[in-house]
Order: sequence, then C-alpha cells, then structure tokens
Amino acid sequence: MISVPFLDLEKLHQTIREPLDRAYHRVIDSGWFSMGPELEAFENEFADYCEVKHCIGVGNGLEALHLLLRAYGIGPGDEVIVPSNTFIATWLAVSQSGATPVPVEPNEDTHNINTALISTAITDRTRAIMPVHLYGQPADMDPINDLAEKYGLIVIEDAAQAQGARYKNQRVGSLGHAAATSFYPGKNLGALGDGGAVLTNDETIANKVRQLRNYGSKVKYQHDLPGYNSRLDELQAAFLRVKLAKLDAWNVLRREIACQYSKLLADANVSLPFVPEFAEPVWHLYVIRNKQRDALKEHLEQQGVSTVIHYPTPPHLQACYQDFRGQQLPIAEILANEVLSLPISPVLESVELGHVTKSIHNFLNSPESLTS
Ligand SMILES: *Cc1c(COP(=O)(O)O)cnc(C)c1O
Repeated sequence: MISVPFLDLEKLHQTIREPLDRAYHRVIDSGWFSMGPELEAFENEFADYCEVKHCIGVGNGLEALHLLLRAYGIGPGDEVIVPSNTFIATWLAVSQSGATPVPVEPNEDTHNINTALISTAITDRTRAIMPVHLYGQPADMDPINDLAEKYGLIVIEDAAQAQGARYKNQRVGSLGHAAATSFYPGKNLGALGDGGAVLTNDETIANKVRQLRNYGSKVKYQHDLPGYNSRLDELQAAFLRVKLAKLDAWNVLRREIACQYSKLLADANVSLPFVPEFAEPVWHLYVIRNKQRDALKEHLEQQGVSTVIHYPTPPHLQACYQDFRGQQLPIAEILANEVLSLPISPVLESVELGHVTKSIHNFLNSPESLTS
C-alpha cells in the first residue's frame, strides 16, 4: 500500500539541494551570521515580490505580528479585531502587546473573517483589525479597509499562510497598513528553521520595527526603545532566497493539486474549498469539511494517508484563554469539529493524490459513514 505524507519537506528540499548547499557554504565562509548581506538581499527581494516598499526580517511570524502592534503603539486598554477561526498566534500577538483580542466569526463558505460582522465588534477602544488569509485564501480586504478608514483603524494582515496569493490582482501583504508573515518550515515559503517578516509601505513603521527587532537600537549600544531580540539570521535569509526563486512555480503546482482534488471530489459528500471571485489563493492547505471528520481521518490513516486538523480547538476554548470560554462563537467551533486538511505540497504526485481521493470515496460509500 502506498503511504501519503501530509507534507514531504525532505523530498521538496532534494529538488533544491545544490543551491541550498551553496547558500550554506556562502554564509559559513563569510563568517557573518546576523544582520548582514544575506538578510538585506532577502528583504529587498521579498519586498519586491510582495509589491511593498519595506520588508523587515524578524525571528518568526508571531514576533512579526507582535512587533507591528508595538510599532503602532497598540497596548493595554486597546482592542484588536481578530478572526475566531485562526491559528492561535494571531490572538497571542495581541495579548502579548497588552491589548485584548476581539473575535469575529468566519463565513462558513470561505472560513475567513465575515466582514459583515466586523462593525458590530468595533468599540471606542478598537485600534486595529487583523484579518488572516487562512489556508492561503485571501480575506475580503475591501470592506475591511473601508471600515478601517471610516473608524480610523489600522489594518494588519496576517499573511503567514498566504505568500504569493493575490486579492483583486494585488499581492497579499500589500493590502493593509502593514502585514506579518511567517517562514516556519511548513509554510509555502519556509525556512530551514524559524523566521518571519514584516511588510509595509510606511517608512516610519518600517524603521520602528527595524529598531524594535534589534534591542530598540539604531546605533550600536544606543537604545532609544525598550526593544526585543527578534532577527532573521543570515543562514535562514540565504536559504529563503533560494526558495523565494521557486515560490511562484511551487504555488502553481499547489494550485494544480487543488484543482485535481476539487475535480476528483466534486461528487463526494464533503464540502470543498470555496474560492470567491476576488481571490487567487496559494493553497497552503486544502481543507474539506465533513460531519464524520474523525472517522474519515481514522479511515485515511488506515489507508496510509496522513491528514491534519487546522485547528482542532479554536483559540477561545484553549486553556490559555479561560476568560473567553463563555463567548458565543459557534461557527469557529463547528469548523473545528468538521475540517480536515488533505496532503498538499509541490511534490505531491498524482498517484498519491489519486489514492487520497479514492480512499475518501471508499469511506463515504461504506456503511460506517452512513450511520449518523
Ligand atoms: C504560522 C502562523 C503564524 C505564526 O508563525 P510562526 O512563525 O510559527 O510564529 C501566525 N499566524 C498564522 C495564521 C500562522 O499560520
């Protein structure tokens, strides 16, 4: 029986092993490991790619979000609107700044923040809206930017899952006041370790984040702000330059896989990803929905297919967010019970994909799936 990994990074990296090796040699031979030429080159290349003026490499995606909130002076007493359906980092960044995350429910079809509900969450303490482009699907940014303008709010995109995606032809990361992204190894643009970046056209904010990531310092040993140590190191920047050159081609392969899944599962009794007119997604994840998700996952495991749940527990039900327990966020909870992410990566082969879809059909046509 064939086994299908959820994401085969080893196989992906074999396809670029030589340039990665050269990058490693370049850095070790330079003797320069932090805040050097590789970082500067990557920042320029990724800013160009995202169609923004400034890219600032930082330690990880959570820090990118957190440093942005600090740069905007958002903190205790402030509220930031976040999706109820997201990876917990979106919420944690807000909490770490001292502000309060205010969750808004998703649309059931896109799983992204429901923009029609945002205005009901705005109070006189609201400072920012933090939409997430979940699964690589852009959130509906125009209504968000309209509300932000009307109420004088900052828009910070969480683009960690969506490097390369477009919304109405514009790159994700260039759509709000600023954006944060993550280079965690499993992301579409992943480092060989942790990494993240801030993107913005605002020079003042860019400079502030540059300072904050490096001990609040512009000039060595002179500290104007109580800063942090959150830098993207030279080795990761060098690896990311190699992978950035591949990103568009890899995203095309992901799109082809998503197309195949949608075609082969069209008549299956599962909900498939919905792509709005405005969106050009990059398929970080291919997420289906089914009421018997747990049994389906178990069946696929037995067939050698690894799947993942993004995410099994929404932030407001996590132990670290006890105070949010009582909030009514039923759609986030339903999604957490029903979503399942199928294997997807640029190196997923069509026989593997065929095995995944065949196994799903087998389950749905079996007696165990008809019991509820
Ligand atoms: C991965 C991710 C982050 C955090 O990135 P790290 O680099 O792991 O800190 C933030 N938001 C979303 C939506 C993510 O998927």
